Amino acid sequence: MTEDIPALYVVPTPLGNLGDMTQRAIDVLRQVAWVAAEDTRHSAPLLKHYGSGARLLAAHEHNEEAAAQQVIARLSAGESVALVSDAGTPAVSDPGARLVARVRAAGFRVVPLPGPCAAVTALSASGLGEAHFLFYGFLPARARPREDALRALRELPYALVFYEAPHRILESVEALAGILGADRTLVIARELTKLFETIHSCPLGEAHAWLTADANRQRGEFVLLVSGAPEGGEAGTGGESERVLRLLLDEGLPVKQAAKLVHSITGAAKNAMYELALSLRKS
Ligand code: SAM
Repeated sequence: MTEDIPALYVVPTPLGNLGDMTQRAIDVLRQVAWVAAEDTRHSAPLLKHYGSGARLLAAHEHNEEAAAQQVIARLSAGESVALVSDAGTPAVSDPGARLVARVRAAGFRVVPLPGPCAAVTALSASGLGEAHFLFYGFLPARARPREDALRALRELPYALVFYEAPHRILESVEALAGILGADRTLVIARELTKLFETIHSCPLGEAHAWLTADANRQRGEFVLLVSGAPEGGEAGTGGESERVLRLLLDEGLPVKQAAKLVHSITGAAKNAMYELALSLRKS
C-alpha cells in the first residue's frame, strides 16, 4: 500500500474459511482509514478478526451512488478506503461496480487485490477442460426469462458458470437440463471452503435425482458449472429435445403427454420438458 497516495482498494474476503484472506488484504484493512462494506454488521467482526481499526461505511446496492460520494470525500481528504462485500470479490455478482466507476471518474486510483471468488474457486476444481469459460452469475429467478437466458447460451462452446441460491437449485438444474441438454456435464460446487464442501459431477439429466436423494445436498451456497456445447453447432440433447417437443406440440399433443414422450425419446428430464412445453405453448 502506498501511504501517501489515497486510493480505493478492492479487497476480496473469504467465502467461508478465514484462512483464505491474503496477507496483502490483511495489511490493507489494517492501514486504511475507512472500509466501505456491503453490510457493515457482517463485516465488523471480520475487521476485528484481522486486527483492523478502520471505520465502516455502508455501500450496498441501494445506496451505491451516495456511498460513492462519501468515498470520494474521504479520498479527497487524503484517506484511503477499502471496498469489501459480504464474501468473495466485490463487484462480482455483488455491489461495487458503480462505486468503482465513480471513484475512477473522479480521478482517484482504484487498486484491485486478487483473492477469493466462488466462480474461480469452483472452476479450478471442476475438471472441465474447456479452454474458455463464461461467467454468468445468477440466472433470472422467473421461469420464462431464465429459459430465454439459457437459450441464448445453449450453442456456446464454453464452460458456463452460474451462481445459485438453495431455494432455486432444483428448478435451475431442471431448466439447465431441459434447455442445454441432459447429456452435458454439470459440476455442482457446494459450500466451497466450508465444512460441508461438496463437488459433484454428473450428466445434467441426473442432477435433479442426485440433489433430491439427500435433502442436505440442496442446502448452502452453490456454483453450477456446465460443460460447453459440443463442437459442430449441435447443442446436444437439449437442442434435440426441444425440436422433438416443438414437433409434438405442433401436432397438438397436450403439454404433459408431449413432455413424457420427449423423456422417453431423448432421455431429457420430464419436469424440465414440461416447463419448457408450457413456456413454448404460451409463446
Ligand atoms: N462476490 C462473490 C464472489 O466473488 O464469488 C459472489 C457473491 S454472490 C452475492 C453469492 C453467491 O456466490 C452465492 O449465492 C453462491 O452462488 C456463490 N457462493 C458464495 N460463496 C460460496 C461458497 N462458499 N460455495 C459455493 N458458492 C458460493
